[in-house]
Amino acid sequence: MMVDSASDSASAAESAAARLAAVRKRIELACAAVNRAPQSVALLAVSKTWDASRVLELAALGQHAFGENYLQEALAKIEACSAQAPAGIEWHFIGPIQSNKTRPIAEHVDWVHSIDREKIAARLSEQRPANHSALQVCVQVNVSGELSKSGCVPKETVALALAIARLPQLHLRGLMTIPEPTPDLALQRERFAELRTLHTRVKAQLGRISPEAAARFDTLSMGMSDDLEAAIAEGATLVRVGTALFGRRPAMVRPSP
Ligand SMILES: *Cc1c(COP(=O)(O)O)cnc(C)c1O
Repeated sequence: MMVDSASDSASAAESAAARLAAVRKRIELACAAVNRAPQSVALLAVSKTWDASRVLELAALGQHAFGENYLQEALAKIEACSAQAPAGIEWHFIGPIQSNKTRPIAEHVDWVHSIDREKIAARLSEQRPANHSALQVCVQVNVSGELSKSGCVPKETVALALAIARLPQLHLRGLMTIPEPTPDLALQRERFAELRTLHTRVKAQLGRISPEAAARFDTLSMGMSDDLEAAIAEGATLVRVGTALFGRRPAMVRPSP
């Protein structure tokens, strides 16, 4: 059977629009449930494993910020989108970072959410080109402890954040977490509440050093396709959504839990 590619891509664009509208609606309802303004939660579209064409399709629908996990894939996609994006895309790196891979990250993205040690932060600061604005960064915290190897332990968060806040080419914006997946809403909320508590603690300590640094520390990056409601109820200011916007990723390239 022949595939009519014009109507095929028209219906793909329609479903992208429908998925984006559905995710925005979920954010709006989750905000309404806890009396928050819907604009207080930013949507990061997690485009890992999906082509540049899918990014551009969402960008044309008004989605501005995209998140990537894997360096080579991210660089190729940033390059492919740079000439074509309607109004410029803000790129967020959200995957694990090896210390010998920091330079291209420092050179090509706007945000990094996944900093869990000082060495990585120091390299990113040092390698951020002088003609770029500061790199916006979050400290990743491992609030559930067991499964994930990424993220600093909660009790090290304040010290790590204070060290990062001193680096000249970075702007420390907040904390990020990926709790273990669970259908238990109470447990989801408990993990996110822990990150919010840590955020409050870091912000207070920053305030003693620099009111400007404390004011800038405004981001709680938490919540994904399956738990964004719980995250918003606990104060998320940015949710990172892949599956609900793009569909299910192929199983073999899914990150381990
Ligand atoms: C893949 C990924 C997401 C998106 O997860 P979904 O469940 O597909 O919404 C969010 N954050 C990080 C760090 C990820 O790796």
